[in-house]
Amino acid sequence: MQSAGKLMKVFITRRIPQEGLKILSAAGVCEVSQWDSDEPVPRADLLKGIQGAHGLLCLLSDKIDAEVLEAAGPNLKVISTLSVGFDHLAIDEIKKRGIRVGYTPDVLTDATAELTVALLLATARRLPEGVEEVKNGGWSSWKPLWLCGYGLSGSTVGVIGLGRIGMAIAQRLMPFGVKRLLYSGRTAKPHAAEVNGEFVPLDTLVSESDFIVVSCSLTPETQGMCDKSFFSKMKPTAVFINTSRGAVVNQEHLYEALSSGQIAAAGLDVTTPEPLPTNHQLLTLKNCVVLPHIGSATYSTRGVMSALAAQNLLGGLQGTDMPSELTL
Ligand code: NDP
Repeated sequence: MQSAGKLMKVFITRRIPQEGLKILSAAGVCEVSQWDSDEPVPRADLLKGIQGAHGLLCLLSDKIDAEVLEAAGPNLKVISTLSVGFDHLAIDEIKKRGIRVGYTPDVLTDATAELTVALLLATARRLPEGVEEVKNGGWSSWKPLWLCGYGLSGSTVGVIGLGRIGMAIAQRLMPFGVKRLLYSGRTAKPHAAEVNGEFVPLDTLVSESDFIVVSCSLTPETQGMCDKSFFSKMKPTAVFINTSRGAVVNQEHLYEALSSGQIAAAGLDVTTPEPLPTNHQLLTLKNCVVLPHIGSATYSTRGVMSALAAQNLLGGLQGTDMPSELTL
């Protein structure tokens, strides 16, 4: 237990929106040290900064494994991540040590779903290519066969992982005139009825969809799920979108599928690694749109995420309820 009057130690691995910092400072229970930069904390500084900490506020780019937990020592009670994804946390190691985990579900759902729709439309209607042609003089005239893409009206959309974000994506896509909404996952979802969603095996989803949207969590089961065999079952006119985690996709196999014309196009908000090296082969393809993991990047969403992460941290430090605690 903490002795009376002594502040608990918190380490924050990055510069985060003020909303969270204000909540921590107003609570008056912790002393914050922070890697005050927009760039990731170097591993050595993370291992040093976390020594003796009672709480850690981290990002999805920080790998929190046994080494970090050992460096922290026995004080560590809570890890609060500024993300809904938790594949960067060694859950088994964390659980073993009785450390609680907070995360930020729901508050980023709308922003991420919006971005996914934007990426899907940008990819299917070839917006980055069009913008480039305007700038480089490639726009010579209105041409009936130029820069044609694929529309959502009358299409079949397949959502892999109809969770919070997958459902919000489906709700936003249906008004475009989508004819069939297929989804796959471990279990059928009662809420799928709202979007007339049909629960189908993954193979059916892959072979029947005109647009495939990946919005599942990264788990050992979904790691590398979108591979050669997956892409070989897609229609040659189908568009592939991933806003979950890069490791769900085998990028070499995706490159082959895109460059050989096996599938029409891909839009990715997440890659392996992040950032994707600027000389990566996927970036040479016109039919591949890559964004720098900006799913939740609206000013208000990031502010709310920061506040929620701070509240989770405080709950863990004080041994009270967290607004969003991950069940370990
Ligand atoms: P949820 O937990 O609500 O949804 C995750 C979904 O993944 C569930 O519906 C689950 O289905 C599904 N899933 C799990 N295993 C499989 C599987 N083997 N095959 C198919 N589906 C599976 O999480 P959220 O919707 O809130 O977030 C989803 C993911 O989105 C996060 O884990 C994160 O990685 C990513 N994300 C990306 C962002 C970005 O900036 N691009 C922003 C925010 C999140 P079931 O219940 O049937 O198991």
